[in-house]
Amino acid sequence: MKPVQGLHHITAVASNPHKNVEFYHHVLGQRLVKKTVNFDDPGTYHLYYGDEVGTPGTIMTYFPWQHMRPGRRGNGETAAMAYTIRPQAMGFWQNWLKKSGISTGERQTRFGQDVLPFTDPDGLPLELITSDDPATLQFWADGPIGASDALQGFHSVTLWLDQVEPTANLLTQQLGYRFIGEEGNRFRYKADGNDIGLFVDILHRPGQPQGQFGAGSIHHIAFRTVDDTEQLEYLQKLRQARVQVTPVQDRQYFHSIYFRSPGGVLFEIATDAPGFPYDEPVAELGTHLKLPSWLEQHRPAIEQRLPEIELKPVAPAIP
Ligand code: ZN
Repeated sequence: MKPVQGLHHITAVASNPHKNVEFYHHVLGQRLVKKTVNFDDPGTYHLYYGDEVGTPGTIMTYFPWQHMRPGRRGNGETAAMAYTIRPQAMGFWQNWLKKSGISTGERQTRFGQDVLPFTDPDGLPLELITSDDPATLQFWADGPIGASDALQGFHSVTLWLDQVEPTANLLTQQLGYRFIGEEGNRFRYKADGNDIGLFVDILHRPGQPQGQFGAGSIHHIAFRTVDDTEQLEYLQKLRQARVQVTPVQDRQYFHSIYFRSPGGVLFEIATDAPGFPYDEPVAELGTHLKLPSWLEQHRPAIEQRLPEIELKPVAPAIP
């Protein structure tokens, strides 16, 4: 059985869908690759952003719940997510974020790499981390950001936990991660298998308050598995280790199983297939409201409840 292939997607909560699209699609240059609804709550959008085709390891997904109050960071959650940029792109991003009205935190060095922290419109903590490591993805040529400055998929997520070991054991014993180093109270784990989204950091915060879920909170992180067969192997392996895992759920663009880490963070294992071009051509990704077959009969009512999202033309980013 192979280790998981790193991060597949990250799902978070937003409040205003228009601000969310503006920020990810137009400012960060992460293409809106799918506009669908929350299958468990079809009155809410489910927006997916990624590279040109939504390659696993680049996929950020949002539920914009309009009346959600802001979350508060704390233990038991994924408290930050990071994208990789090339080292020479740091100046571009500092200027471009500033020009876009987004304030950034102080630059830091972490495991020898430059880190630029900032937040999305709902306060979700984001980081840009410099790296020259290979990143196999499909550059969005029609996006606002040039190829050399574009985000290179996920770098890492940071979990805030009361205890390191129980969740670290789940990562290393069940999912194939390796411990690769610590810096202060930060413990880093690395996946094998591909070249984007390979790192999970655990920040050890004993006795600190639990997070409060809300807008700007990360709902769950999904790990990447190649196909349904391998996913079933993980399902069985986790159940044998007495981890409570859901049955396989059809998420239309991938298949998913969910389980909670000992520290309370919601994890998912998702398949690479079928992917986002499954129900609309690459050129049209994100431009139609897509519904799964079981919701198609309710389309008129669903469309009426959702605020309209019109994608503006993309303007090149000039800082
Ligand atoms: Zn998910």
